[in-house]
Amino acid sequence: MTRHVDVVVIGGGQAGLAAGYHLRRLGVDFVILDAQDTPGGAWQHAWDSLHLFSPAAYSSLPGRPMPPQTGQMYPDAAHVVGYLTEYEHRYELPVHRPVRVSAVHREEDAFLRVETDSGTWRTRAVISATGTWWRPFLPAVPGRSGFRGRQLHTVDYRGPRDFAGKQVVVVGGGNSGAQIAADLAYDTELTWATQRPPRFLADDIDGRALFDAATARRRALDQGRADSGGVASLGDIVAVPPVREARDAGLLKASPTFAHLDRDGVVWADGTRADADAVIWCTGFRPTLGHLVPLGLRGPRGRIPTVGTRAVDEPRLYLLGYGDWTGPASATLIGVGRPARDTARSIAELLTER
Ligand code: FAD
Repeated sequence: MTRHVDVVVIGGGQAGLAAGYHLRRLGVDFVILDAQDTPGGAWQHAWDSLHLFSPAAYSSLPGRPMPPQTGQMYPDAAHVVGYLTEYEHRYELPVHRPVRVSAVHREEDAFLRVETDSGTWRTRAVISATGTWWRPFLPAVPGRSGFRGRQLHTVDYRGPRDFAGKQVVVVGGGNSGAQIAADLAYDTELTWATQRPPRFLADDIDGRALFDAATARRRALDQGRADSGGVASLGDIVAVPPVREARDAGLLKASPTFAHLDRDGVVWADGTRADADAVIWCTGFRPTLGHLVPLGLRGPRGRIPTVGTRAVDEPRLYLLGYGDWTGPASATLIGVGRPARDTARSIAELLTER
């Protein structure tokens, strides 16, 4: 069955919802197709102890401030899921789920064809807002396939109970690595391997300052001033309370990255080794763009070249929420609002051109 709609938004996480909010305000005819069974995008799959690195007021989508969570300065992931669920109901966003988009094709006329596991849509524009959680990245470290212990990525981690008393290696010096290392620091024999010495942000810096830094960088670039370096210039790790506590207790000592794995653990270049029951790869993500492969737009580093959120070589396609290349801080709750608004406006103009 083929249905028609002016705009298809692929993905019903925070980015897809923010796009929906602005499309609705502009009176655009659209649907949101989301592969999950229930609302909340990636937040539904976060580990048990994950908390936002910003207070609720700094984690809001357009139109509706996130309410504070009782007793928590930094809300947990379940609170975010509740907020996103309420958000899509409040604005009556037309989310269809579970619907997985397998491919987007060009039609011979002005339309794009969106193929899903429950039918096909013909549409004038597509917003891809599929996030990164669904494409975990694992580095090609020699010996990985021969290691006999357990290997997980950030996306598989739930909590420390599975690892009590075990020898665990956590790989990665970003926020996920630091938070998961802090989570495991008390009940496991922990090795935390980072490419360079961990760079903690000052204790009084949280997501608010990161957002301000990203905004200042955008302004500077817009005005042709020098690149301030934005968020990256401040450090890598937000010292959220559990990270700070583990660090201050001397439990978060990092080692350099090891050279390879053997059957029973990890081995550094100088021959030093550490046995491991489990290795947890907190080594990041890549944008989930497989559904766009038929359009043939892939550019350097697996990214599709864009101006703002609009694909350079396919002006009916917009990419929202994947990181700074699709809008400064666009992969955060508070940061996705502005690129979502600009995207909706651009699409409204595109639709009037027909
Ligand atoms: P997602 O939440 O991943 O939503 C994308 C949706 O698209 C999903 O529902 C998915 O199932 C669906 N989808 C994917 N492919 C398809 C397809 N082919 N067809 C149909 N549907 C599809 N941000 C903050 O603001 N504050 C924080 O404190 C914070 N902490 C973070 C901590 C961690 C560990 C991580 C990983 C991220 C954190 N972020 C934080 C960043 C960001 O807010 C999240 O990554 C957020 O989930 C991104 O939202 P999204 O809508 O872009 O993607």
